[in-house]
Amino acid sequence: MIDLENGWTDSVPFPDGDLTQNQIEKRIVDRLNELSSWEDSSRFGFAMTEPCQIAIDTLRRFLPFNTNNIGVHTRFGAGQLGTRRFEKEALGVLGGLYNAGAIDGYITSGGTEGNLCGLRIGRNSLRKSGKKSIVVITGELAHHSILKAAEILDLELLTLPMLDSYTINPDQLEELINSEVERGKDGFIIVSTAGYFNCGLVDPIDRVTMKLEQLQIKKINLGIYHHVDAAYGGLILPFSNSEVAFDFRNKNVHSMTIDPHKMGLQPYGSGVFLCRKGLLENVAIDAHRSGVIDETIIGSRGGFYAAALWTTLFSLGRKGFEKMVGNCIKLTDTFIGEIRAIDNEVDIIRHPDMNVFAISLNTNQNRLPTEMEQKYRLVPNKLPIFNQNGKININSKVFYHFYVMPAIGENKVFEFLREFRAAFFSESKEPSRLIDLKYSNHKIITQIQEGTSCPRHALVHPPTKRDPKNYPENYSFHKFVSRFETDEVMQIKELYFSDRLKEMLYFYAPKLGEPFGNELGGVGVKNRYNFEILDKFQTELSLIGSSHLFIHSADRMSQILANFHQDGLFRSIEIKMGDDSCTDDIQIFRDEIILKIGKNARSIYRGNNDYSFCIDTSIEIRIHLHDNDSTPKLKTIQYNADPFLSRSNLTKHQLKRFPNRFFEIILEIEISRKYEQKWTLANSNEFARHFSKLIGNSALKGLSEIDLQISGSCLSVKVTSITDKQLYSINIPLNVGLHFEDRLPRLDVRNLNGLKPVEVGLYSEVLYEKLSSLLKCMRNSGGVDLLSYLQTNRSRESK
Ligand code: PLP
Repeated sequence: MIDLENGWTDSVPFPDGDLTQNQIEKRIVDRLNELSSWEDSSRFGFAMTEPCQIAIDTLRRFLPFNTNNIGVHTRFGAGQLGTRRFEKEALGVLGGLYNAGAIDGYITSGGTEGNLCGLRIGRNSLRKSGKKSIVVITGELAHHSILKAAEILDLELLTLPMLDSYTINPDQLEELINSEVERGKDGFIIVSTAGYFNCGLVDPIDRVTMKLEQLQIKKINLGIYHHVDAAYGGLILPFSNSEVAFDFRNKNVHSMTIDPHKMGLQPYGSGVFLCRKGLLENVAIDAHRSGVIDETIIGSRGGFYAAALWTTLFSLGRKGFEKMVGNCIKLTDTFIGEIRAIDNEVDIIRHPDMNVFAISLNTNQNRLPTEMEQKYRLVPNKLPIFNQNGKININSKVFYHFYVMPAIGENKVFEFLREFRAAFFSESKEPSRLIDLKYSNHKIITQIQEGTSCPRHALVHPPTKRDPKNYPENYSFHKFVSRFETDEVMQIKELYFSDRLKEMLYFYAPKLGEPFGNELGGVGVKNRYNFEILDKFQTELSLIGSSHLFIHSADRMSQILANFHQDGLFRSIEIKMGDDSCTDDIQIFRDEIILKIGKNARSIYRGNNDYSFCIDTSIEIRIHLHDNDSTPKLKTIQYNADPFLSRSNLTKHQLKRFPNRFFEIILEIEISRKYEQKWTLANSNEFARHFSKLIGNSALKGLSEIDLQISGSCLSVKVTSITDKQLYSINIPLNVGLHFEDRLPRLDVRNLNGLKPVEVGLYSEVLYEKLSSLLKCMRNSGGVDLLSYLQTNRSRESK
């Protein structure tokens, strides 16, 4: 049992209303940041999806009017005005979808309210027809809202145990009704389900009603009301297989629940209850003092839901719904096919026209690793297993149900599959979708070579002499040769077509036979990103970790790189703005943000395979982040730093590689992540003692004044050109490094031979997507929207 005593919310004084706009804004941004990672997580266990844009836009337009759709609006002849007319028209087309003829109903707050309404009408109408003792019967897998409704209405609830199937067995139903009649029951509310939430199966509603009809002929006194809970299947089945007769075409179905906030792409709080004409009278309350007759369960209802539902139904229409549902079912088919390909022992429950299914493993006591349960929000459920004759084979096993909702893309499915395979079946074959590949043309190779941001990828160590221990002399830029000179071409293969990115992924490496055992191996999507993995020798020398995702920009004026350690742990995000020769760099680590204004990194060819590498930086600001409660402090200032700068953290080989580094000014600052007040570098005492202004050479703005400001735990970097006073600014939440560490997926690259291209491809898709969404969070905090900056430049280029 759940411990109801465990957990509390302390009462706190009601706010005085003296939070500043900045403080409120910061809370909003914090909560948005929490949401954005939560929202895009791979949630399979729940029927949640993103509302469609038209619904969101309509809500926005109607919210300010705050109309009240209290009561029922299917009655009023030509219809009332505004959102009430929308409600009547939306229910009208749903009546058409469910083959109803004349209907009544209203927009509920969701499936639970629809079911409560159905059972309430059932109870009252049976009572009105003189039934004295009423019972509700449903299948054992029915949603708990039926239980709730029966409890609220004080009705006895009986569930049919699963003896030979997961759905209602009409013979078993007959038997139960017969024995209940013996017990003196005369009124029966039957609840069938079209789309059980934890497996997707549909009750045989035709056969159930036929059985009930036969029973009523035999027992004249029997009162029967039949409600269909189509909360989940109601907006799927009509579009995936119109032959499934779960709706009003069956004349013995009295009422139905559907839930547009599931597959109807509506925001939460949008359900629909529909019933045959004449039934609502059973629940009519004459609220004459308010001037209404109310047949609904709740009172005031926001009219904007009706507007959003109407615009969605009419703009998507049958074709739109068929396409959306079709895509989900296709992906469900792929998902199940791939699960079977990995593990043909797995037990699967599924309805072919639904996008939800349940699986049970036959290893590890049917359980997935806890991390996977949590990550994918999978809910373990015990269900029996039946043998071919429909007899129970195994009393109960743990199943997990998976919803393949519209927001679930193929990459999430493949991310799960990769982890599933790795958890239990590392030896099994790769997902079968990996197409067998041809070498592609030189043009793409060139694009990928151009796309790599790191000079080390254009300049290589001689192919046979890459081990720095055996060939230390090669590990100097003085010995580097160009890839073209060694005849070592980057080979490239198509990997697979990503539906989400709508692009082909490629993988590339000098030797495709051992894709990631090379000095450099990666996967990429043209004009979007490359994800590259360094071999162990490169990793030893690298200053930027073992793998990195590099997001392309069209004009090469800005670049974003995410760097990771060998075990996949986040190392840093680098944002470079400028051109190849000079950039303003922002490097975000977990506990540090480093700003490099006017960083000039060059490799200089001195002839005879002799390269040298220099970094000159105009101003470097190192911000150390901590969690103490102190005010920001400028700790050190160094001028003309470098030649004797401590390099104790670098190996001998790394030192050789970076012989020249020069900084005009270095500042070191300590800031608490929790610091919420205002602080500016220009006004801090320590700073004022040394400078009146901080002037440096920005790659973007030339000679510029640089200032840092903190407000609401967000760092804002302002760079103002002193010649034309133009400004650019960028805002970085102080805790963003923690978010990057927590939320970016990890790929362990310690065992390069075990890495399969398709796994790296799927990982990089997810990484690209997550990184993009975190960068959007930075935009939510104001400042430059780097991602759209990159994308605008790209679209400009493609025009
Ligand atoms: N009925 C079924 C079959 C469902 O799947 C659900 C929700 O998952 C409900 C009823 C309850 O719907 P709501 O949460 O909208 O009240």
